[in-house]
Amino acid sequence: MDKKNKYIEVAIALPVYNTYLYKIPLSLNSLAKPGMRVLVPFGKRRVTGYIIARQKQNNGYHIKNIIDILDNAPLFPESMIPFLKWLGDYYIYPLGEVIKTALPVGLNRYDVLFVSLTEKGIKQEKSGTLTLKESKIINILKVKPNCSLKSLGDKLKNSRINTFIKQMEQKGLITVKTLLKQDQAKIKKEKFILKGWGYEKQKLSKKRAAILSIIEKRKEISLKILRKEIPTAPRLVKILSESGFVKIVEREVFRDPFGDPVEPDIPPQLNKEQAEIVSYVKQRMDKGFQRYLLSGVTSSGKTEVYMRLVAKALAMSKQAIVLVPEISLISQTERRFRARFGEKVAVLHSGLSKSELFHQWKRIIKKHATVVIGARSSIFAPMENLGIIIVDEEHDTSYKQDSSLRYNARDIAIVRAKFDSIPVILGSATPSVQSYYNACKKKFHELKLEKRVNKHPLPEITLIDLKKYKNFRGRERLITPELSKEIRKVLDNGEQVLIFLNRRGFATFSVCQDCGKTVKCKFCDISMTLHKDYNEFRCHLCGFSLSPRIKCMKCGSLKINLLGFGTEKIQEMLQILFPDARIARLDQDTASKKGATVRILKKIKNRTVDIIVGTQMLAKGHDFPSITLVGIICADLSLNFPDFRAGERTFQLLAQVAGRAGRGEKKGKVILQTYNPEHFSIKASKHQDFREFYHKEIPFRQGLCYPPFSRIIQLKISGTDKNKVKKYSLMAGEICKNLLRKNKQNEIQMLGPIEAGIPKIALRYRWQILLKSSMGGIINKFVKELICNKKILNQKHIRISIDVDPYLMM
Ligand code: ADP
Ligand code: ZN
Ligand code: ZN
Repeated sequence: MDKKNKYIEVAIALPVYNTYLYKIPLSLNSLAKPGMRVLVPFGKRRVTGYIIARQKQNNGYHIKNIIDILDNAPLFPESMIPFLKWLGDYYIYPLGEVIKTALPVGLNRYDVLFVSLTEKGIKQEKSGTLTLKESKIINILKVKPNCSLKSLGDKLKNSRINTFIKQMEQKGLITVKTLLKQDQAKIKKEKFILKGWGYEKQKLSKKRAAILSIIEKRKEISLKILRKEIPTAPRLVKILSESGFVKIVEREVFRDPFGDPVEPDIPPQLNKEQAEIVSYVKQRMDKGFQRYLLSGVTSSGKTEVYMRLVAKALAMSKQAIVLVPEISLISQTERRFRARFGEKVAVLHSGLSKSELFHQWKRIIKKHATVVIGARSSIFAPMENLGIIIVDEEHDTSYKQDSSLRYNARDIAIVRAKFDSIPVILGSATPSVQSYYNACKKKFHELKLEKRVNKHPLPEITLIDLKKYKNFRGRERLITPELSKEIRKVLDNGEQVLIFLNRRGFATFSVCQDCGKTVKCKFCDISMTLHKDYNEFRCHLCGFSLSPRIKCMKCGSLKINLLGFGTEKIQEMLQILFPDARIARLDQDTASKKGATVRILKKIKNRTVDIIVGTQMLAKGHDFPSITLVGIICADLSLNFPDFRAGERTFQLLAQVAGRAGRGEKKGKVILQTYNPEHFSIKASKHQDFREFYHKEIPFRQGLCYPPFSRIIQLKISGTDKNKVKKYSLMAGEICKNLLRKNKQNEIQMLGPIEAGIPKIALRYRWQILLKSSMGGIINKFVKELICNKKILNQKHIRISIDVDPYLMM
């Protein structure tokens, strides 16, 4: 083997910014590959690291040996390393921790090595040519022929035998197999019937002929479905297969959350708009890095376009990543990719168990799966030969991760595509301001789908000014007569209503009648929400709860006024107004029980509910053709957030909710209630026109120098001691100011330090500093310089995190 490369560069999974050089013992030299984990000495500890590269030379220092190699094969391809390095640099985050974030959690726990004997091992043991330790192992294996590495270690009272075992394997004394632990997800297999060879119809019974003609038409069908049409199918199919008229195969099936198998689909003929776009992108598929923005209202056929381009990538022997927003269940989009690409698809999202996640990961590495579809973390899928990346609903905020490595999968999808020299497509009915700005500046090539495939008109949206009802008492303030009238109509027609409110609970704001103090969480600086479901007040940030019969914390009064409204209250009001209606609710509270979401969605699908009340959980990813009316109780809740993206988010959310109406044959209707009918975000959502919104919004962004005209890095500071956090924040602010002055950096604007919008969460006090600049690179460099300052980082009880391109500014 290559004896020269006996050093490796290792990224340690600890908050350290450098990588380190280690030596590999000669015996392990041929085993070590970039993308594998190693155990290394680090100071007085032993820690896990990732091999980044092989190195020929050392840097002159004394270099330590690695202790062990922890994997038999790389966990990610070497070709991803430049991308991962870029992330560490851009998000100012240690490379080892970037890699840790990129890999599925609980990786090693489910990967079990089993050791067994070889003939050579037995022979050599007999002839006495082995070392003492080697014979010991062979003798254990004689008693227990298939022993896990861990129990072998236990028996030898030595857990660090990985390397030793590998050496024995190399000598041919033993074999080592990697197996997944028992609890791996059970893979369901099912029988499918395919066409066999020729037959003469006349000679067959009616039923057999019917089966054959179904298979003729559909090419293949699952036995389960066939049985629904022809109950005796299982027996008949068996007979038919014995004559060779059909083939029966067992195959892994994928079920949607309702338990129905996903059947293969037949691609429709593209319409003119779609065909033009597909051919435009196809022709350039092998021409390197390109960025596209695909804009098109819901049901304009975007998903079909994605599928054609993915198919093209596969035809070029390449792979594809399709990012979809995070939802608790599989989305329509995933379902459709399954139907089109079957077993080539791997799915990655947070709903999977650790072992299931790992199983998917392995399928990708082994190239059994060539299409990955999933939530934001799928952008790290270990693919070596990508042909295209697609980001559906690119405006969705769930692409931003708001802890540890605070990346935005939409943004880094573009970076990965650049490293891989491939096209990337961002698609949305309501593109983000950022992406549309890039399209206007010709950084992105815009592709437009302007017509709906089925020509169904978009729903008609009526704005209701809630100010008119401000002085009304009771239910009419929230469920206005206009909305009631429409609900009544729909119920009488036997159709369904969706009522949307972006806030859960019963009463969201409770105050003491005597002294005016609000009921607040003991640990967080926010008011508590009364939940009748749980019969308690709850804090939505930390989960702290109080009895509903509380006294005022300040004056002891028992008279607590329950103000503010959430989904629970709306549900109650609707039930009083429409006693005959069957009402269900879908929000974080009702969905918290296992399987609850599926049950509720099933009810909607089977039309055993008439009115469904819910938060944005309802707005994403599902298709309910019999909902003909959408009522938006109060469109302003997200508008009042102290955040420069509040208007953008409101517009996107409203447009998305409105789009839930009228997805079937019948035209939908939307009643949008608001205190701000004149606000441009709300007006634009009435027209479902993102360009209208964009052109109103962009002057504000420019005037205040907010993204896309600048880049922002936010320093989030927190700690449990109120005064220490304040003192530290002020000091950090001073250091920033001095450094800015010293570097004569007038391009960087500093805002703060100030107390955060929510000053306390779970007993941690929070401050922040905002750095803003129209020149992105400068601010990144500045923050790196800043954190080199010992005073900034070396603080015991203070946590400081760097949020590059922040979303949650509170
Ligand atoms: P979007 O992703 O823009 O919401 P979809 O791709 O989901 O749009 O298309 C909406 C519906 O129209 C889907 O049911 C899809 O199967 C169907 N569809 C898409 N393209 C075609 C086509 N060319 N011919 C017939 N049906 C189509
Ligand atoms: Zn009081
Ligand atoms: Zn709390």
